[in-house]
Amino acid sequence: MLIGVDWGGTHIKAAIVDGANVRAHATADTHAASALDDIAALVKQLAPAPAQVGVAIPGEVRDDGRCWRLPNVPGFENVNIGTELQRRIGCPVAVENDATAAALAERLFGWGNKYKSFLLVTLGTGVGGGLVLDGSLRRGAGGFAGEIGHVLVNSSPDAWLCGCGRAGCMEAYAGKAGLLRKYAELAPPLSSVKEIADVGGPAAEEVWQQMGDALGKGLASINNTLDLDAIVFSGGISNSLNLIEGHVRRALAERAFAPPLSQIPLLISQLGEHAGVIGAAHLPTSPS
Ligand SMILES: [Zn+2]
Repeated sequence: MLIGVDWGGTHIKAAIVDGANVRAHATADTHAASALDDIAALVKQLAPAPAQVGVAIPGEVRDDGRCWRLPNVPGFENVNIGTELQRRIGCPVAVENDATAAALAERLFGWGNKYKSFLLVTLGTGVGGGLVLDGSLRRGAGGFAGEIGHVLVNSSPDAWLCGCGRAGCMEAYAGKAGLLRKYAELAPPLSSVKEIADVGGPAAEEVWQQMGDALGKGLASINNTLDLDAIVFSGGISNSLNLIEGHVRRALAERAFAPPLSQIPLLISQLGEHAGVIGAAHLPTSPS
């Protein structure tokens, strides 16, 4: 029995995972001050004495187990979340970036069975990513491999500011805040990307154009470098890939170095909403 936890910006989900199947799960709202205690409580609710636990976190993890910081959850800079949780739960706890964990799930149980090298792009509040090359999950030297959201897609002086503090990042145009901002420039503001999709119309179409253009430009740079087999989209809006695919394709065609690079398969994750917990549950734990 494997236990996976997906620590998101708004919710924490813990699950009992069997292969690619979630047998049971429990959720709680994310509160920065009590997140570690809340994770431990959720895990114990599902399994009083687990043998090991894997946790996907909304930030990057160094080789020594400390996270750099969690951009949307204050107070965790340089914290060794695995050690902290191990003390609370009483078993080895593996910790990995959420998009990297989702990419592991995709490698094991999804498109990884067909494609050996792919970038998994998570679309949600931010734009994240996990990288699988030649069948292996790549963490990178500092745990940042595949983090595509901060690729530069607009270098003009009035480029939009990104949550990371820099301007012109892909995430500034394809993340939630950028999509809501674009919509509000054209129509009465809405508070979620799903509402924009539901309302539709010309303003929504301009939002999908902006999103697809930013994604396509960034992905072209990545694919010009890595020559991948596929790009896999995961997360909320990924189910609406049809809304943005034409725009992504056009931007890819404009920026990709050669036709094979722009004709790369654009796919929706086969793991759905549980990708994070499934990937987390299968993270290797090292003895400590
Ligand atoms: Zn950024």
